[in-house]
Amino acid sequence: MRLVLLGPPGAGKGTQAQILVETYDIPQLSTGDMLRAAIKAETPLGLEAKAIVDRGDLVSDTIVSGIISERMDEPDCANGFILDGFPRTIAQAESLDDMLDAKGLKLDAVVEIKADPEILIERIINRARETGGARADDNEDVLRKRLVVYNEQTAPLVSFYAKQGLLRSVDGMKPIDEVTASIKAAIE
Ligand code: AMP
Repeated sequence: MRLVLLGPPGAGKGTQAQILVETYDIPQLSTGDMLRAAIKAETPLGLEAKAIVDRGDLVSDTIVSGIISERMDEPDCANGFILDGFPRTIAQAESLDDMLDAKGLKLDAVVEIKADPEILIERIINRARETGGARADDNEDVLRKRLVVYNEQTAPLVSFYAKQGLLRSVDGMKPIDEVTASIKAAIE
C-alpha cells in the first residue's frame, strides 16, 4: 500500500499515519520528522533548513524530493509506505510521479484530511503547551504562516490528485478513531 496523507498543519496527518503504520505494517515517511532530525543533528541539510522551517516556509522542492527518493529505497519500504507531509507543492507531486515511475511503482490513494483552520490553530496551541514548546514552529504566528503556505502551495494538490482519480477526502474534525475508520473505508 502506497499512500499520501494530505491536509493542513494540525489536521492529524502524523497521528493517523502512526495508526496506519500499525494496521498495514508499512513505514511513515514524514519529511517534517526527517528535517527536524537533521536540524537537531546539525547536519549540513539541517543547518540549511533550520531558519526556513522555524519561520513556517517550505524547504526547497529539490531537497525534500531527494530525501524522500532515497528513503523509499530502504528495504522497509518494499511493501509500501505512508507519505506524511510530502508532496507539498505541485513540483513535488510531479517529482514524486517521476520517481515512482522510475522505480516501477504507483500510488494507491491520496487521502485528504479536511479540517477547519481556526480549530487547527487551537489544536496547535494546545500541542505547543503539551510538548512544552518542543517545536519552534508550533506557535500561532508561524502556524498562520503555515496555513497560508498550505492554501497557496499545497491545496492545489487536491485537484491534481482528483484528476488522477486517486483522491479520497475524509472529515478530519471527527474523533481520532472515527477519522481512522473513514480512512480505512476510503482506501480498502
Ligand atoms: P510538518 O512536520 O510536516 O508539519 O513539517 C514541518 C516543516 O518542515 C514545514 O513547515 C516545512 O518548513 C518543512 N517541510 C516538511 N515537509 C516539507 C515538504 N514536503 N516540502 C517543503 N518543506 C517541508
